[in-house]
Amino acid sequence: MADRYRCILLFGAPGTGKGTQGQLLGERDGFVHLATGDIFRSLDKETELGRKFVHYSSRGELVPNDLTIQLWQEYVKGMIADGRYDPESDILLLDGMPRSLPQAEMLDGLLQPLAIIHLTVPNIDEMVKRMKLRAEKEGRHDDADENVIRNRFDVYNRETAPVLGHFDKRLVIDIDAIGTIEEVFERAVAAVDSVRV
Ligand code: AMP
Repeated sequence: MADRYRCILLFGAPGTGKGTQGQLLGERDGFVHLATGDIFRSLDKETELGRKFVHYSSRGELVPNDLTIQLWQEYVKGMIADGRYDPESDILLLDGMPRSLPQAEMLDGLLQPLAIIHLTVPNIDEMVKRMKLRAEKEGRHDDADENVIRNRFDVYNRETAPVLGHFDKRLVIDIDAIGTIEEVFERAVAAVDSVRV
């Protein structure tokens, strides 16, 4: 039994394209993509947890750490049980986990990060533009309002960016997220393949 989940962490402020790149990378052999935001969005909105998710995400806030970690761990166990993820042979591509220092600490004994892919963009306006476009296309309630988008950046800077400092600096691979999806994907593939070798 693998004692910790081998993983690549996808990092980047909202709108940098983590989700898209994670999905594309997840199609490659040996990788399994898992986005915490997707787990939350798949919850029934009538359940207590579903309601909590809407409460926090509609304000651009993080769901409380304990709840999030518990849900995430149960979800991963389910993926192992139904064969979608094999910790012995697969590498998890994690989008949105860990997203705060307490989460990083809670998962220290469980995750073995092989690399941290950090998508970077030079200015916030570029990202706000991208997120509004996405909100229109996907009907996301959390990105439709500019104030909520701005709050998501604040939360990222305050709670998530410090998580990068929790891990060994040598694991961090900065990738320029400006360009077409294909261009950024090429850079991401090169980074991921350098890890696998
Ligand atoms: P995302 O799709 O990654 O932008 O996530 C959408 C929303 O889900 C976030 O704004 C948070 O409310 C919630 N969320 C996703 N990942 C986490 C996490 N690791 N911890 C707490 N909340 C999260």
